[in-house]
Amino acid sequence: MLIGALQKFSLLDYPGKISAIVFTQGCNFRCRFCYNPMLVWPACAKASAAVKTMADESAGKPVTSINAVAGKPAEITDAQVGEGKLKYAREESPGRQKIHPQISEDDFFVFLKSRAGKLDAVVITGGEPSLQPDLMEFIRKIKTLGFLIKLDTNGSRPEVLARLIKEKLIDYIAMDLKATPEKYAEITGVEADLNKIKKSVKMIIVSDLPYEFRTTVVPELLALSDFAAMGKMIQGADKWYLQNFKSGVDLVDASLQGRVPYNARQMNQMAAMGRKYVKVCEVR
Ligand code: SF4
Repeated sequence: MLIGALQKFSLLDYPGKISAIVFTQGCNFRCRFCYNPMLVWPACAKASAAVKTMADESAGKPVTSINAVAGKPAEITDAQVGEGKLKYAREESPGRQKIHPQISEDDFFVFLKSRAGKLDAVVITGGEPSLQPDLMEFIRKIKTLGFLIKLDTNGSRPEVLARLIKEKLIDYIAMDLKATPEKYAEITGVEADLNKIKKSVKMIIVSDLPYEFRTTVVPELLALSDFAAMGKMIQGADKWYLQNFKSGVDLVDASLQGRVPYNARQMNQMAAMGRKYVKVCEVR
């Protein structure tokens, strides 16, 4: 597992549970509002090269090293990085990028064992966790210690989700619903395979697991009128949470920095629209 960060304690991320959060490195999306660019481009000093290599996927070129800083061989393969071709590839000066140190799996498990009886669960988020080739093994080790698992995903790899659900390796799923079908590429920065997104949505809704869908709302990218089309994509779902975007932090698309977020009244209007399609739709 490429672990980019660990939050040792959270009361917010797993509903009703006390959790620790593992942030995996590497993502196949480039959501413009993403405030974890250090996890999307983990090999900071050589990020531009890695992004370029990923952008060459259509030519069949392998991703040689996502984790170039640590000098490790590629642990996420070309196929795993994604089916989508990058629409946006940010070229940055190395000085602007943050070095994001890795946490070893051994260190993580030393920490986790010390929290037995104090934490209920581990939230695995990203980046995109389903890209990690050893995700299932990692989760099995955590569950052996008695912790629940919540998985956050962008829904781009339904085949991984299917295995995790079938083998009862996850206890809660949170999937991002990024946009209307028409805006998916514009907002995620890749030509995402919408059939895979739809497959993940369906699989999650019919699973026996507790779950939620989440949407980050950015002015000028999503408007009130989009919430009908998005609601239809997850029609009948249990929960849909809308979260305002953070404009004052480092974002994947720097041009969004400083943009004024929607106000509470506008966010509530969108949630009201969402409630026409799902059981619960709230602003978080
Ligand atoms: S899927 Fe998540 S981690 Fe990946 S770019 Fe989008 S917001 Fe960031």
